[in-house]
Amino acid sequence: MLIQNGFKGSEIVVDVIMLIEAGSDFGGVWHFNKYPQARVDSETPLYQLSLPQAWRFFTFKERFPGHVELQEYLTHMANALDLRTTGIFNSRVIDAKFDSDTKGWVIQTENSLVAKSQYVVFATGTTNKPYILDFPGKESFCGSIIDPAA
Ligand SMILES: Cc1cc2nc3c(=O)[nH]c(=O)nc-3n(C[C@H](O)[C@H](O)[C@H](O)COP(=O)(O)OP(=O)(O)OC[C@H]3O[C@@H](n4cnc5c(N)ncnc54)[C@H](O)[C@@H]3O)c2cc1C
Repeated sequence: MLIQNGFKGSEIVVDVIMLIEAGSDFGGVWHFNKYPQARVDSETPLYQLSLPQAWRFFTFKERFPGHVELQEYLTHMANALDLRTTGIFNSRVIDAKFDSDTKGWVIQTENSLVAKSQYVVFATGTTNKPYILDFPGKESFCGSIIDPAA
């Protein structure tokens, strides 16, 4: 991560690239979905990035890998692409505004980080939000309840 002006209070001015992630590590859905038997239904050649750094040094053991192996793959990717130096974790973005005077974005997180950038890519996914099922009698249900992404 190139932060040119360093920390200025809680404000960070970013020149090149920065990743802001709500979770505590890389992985997206595979960081959050760790329930028993969570796995893909797309085969590994399809469910892989095509970058040489991705396939050259990582071979999936299973055709339809489970969440543990997928998290290993994503950790490998983060290291191979040196993404850790650009990542800021445990920081949920709560506001993003385009400032037409400076022609840049101002991003704010719930832990009071303010970041400025000329461009922003919102890769926030569709299935990482926990869905906590509620139904009458849930408190007295004796079986196990598994909530995806929780
Ligand atoms: C059990 C399971 C099996 C699946 N199997 C398949 C499959 O077989 N084939 C297939 O194609 N797809 C499958 N999917 C879909 C899967 O969502 C995608 O394949 C892919 O992982 C999505 O990647 P993504 O980067 O778009 O989103 P995500 O992996 O969801 O990553 C988005 C990231 O954005 C972060 N984020 C969101 N909002 C904010 C915010 N406001 N501030 C900061 N950070 C934020 C999240 O914390 C998350 O880490 C499956 C999903 C699940 C849960």
